[in-house]
Amino acid sequence: MRSIKAIQKVIDSFESLPGIGPKTAARLAYYLLHVPQEKLEKFAESLARLKKDTKVCRICFNMGEGELCPICEDNDRDKEIVCVVEQPLDLLAFERADGFSGVYHVLGGAINPLDNIGPDDLQINELLNRLKSGEIKELILATNPTMEGEATAMYISYKIKEMKKRGRVEDNLKVTRIGRGLPTGADVEYADGQTLLRALENRREV
Ligand SMILES: [Zn+2]
Repeated sequence: MRSIKAIQKVIDSFESLPGIGPKTAARLAYYLLHVPQEKLEKFAESLARLKKDTKVCRICFNMGEGELCPICEDNDRDKEIVCVVEQPLDLLAFERADGFSGVYHVLGGAINPLDNIGPDDLQINELLNRLKSGEIKELILATNPTMEGEATAMYISYKIKEMKKRGRVEDNLKVTRIGRGLPTGADVEYADGQTLLRALENRREV
């Protein structure tokens, strides 16, 4: 059967998304054929605006609508405790767990030599610069408990020790690593709220 162009285009778009195979892509495209035109146009518009209407926060690199994300803007958040995560989705997982009142720093990934991702490809220097103001009292390293996440946490804590030696950051800045609540190899993004909160509670100094 010759494919129908308009449908095939939508199938191809869905198939290019992570975790969606050809069957699901086709099912979604045919499902959309039954959705009222007005609803479809709203959907298309929200996709078109997705990147236009979002900005990366200049402090923590989370997503927001203005210069600052809603968390950095919020005066009720404790700016002295910073939770360092790999991706904005990890931040969302902590927010959903609803037990952390500090702020965040999104690295944009983890150090991964096999993929050619080094410290300079991540927002690590920006994090270290944030520490110089002296406002931050504790840094919680909440990168994934994978090889890459552990290496990234180790690298950051090493860098901070170096900075302490040179007097570039306060000596009493506490650096902690989330605890063993998370199984090795598990992603922060997929952990349930209870597990995440336990991992936060069980953090240890590094
Ligand atoms: Zn922010």
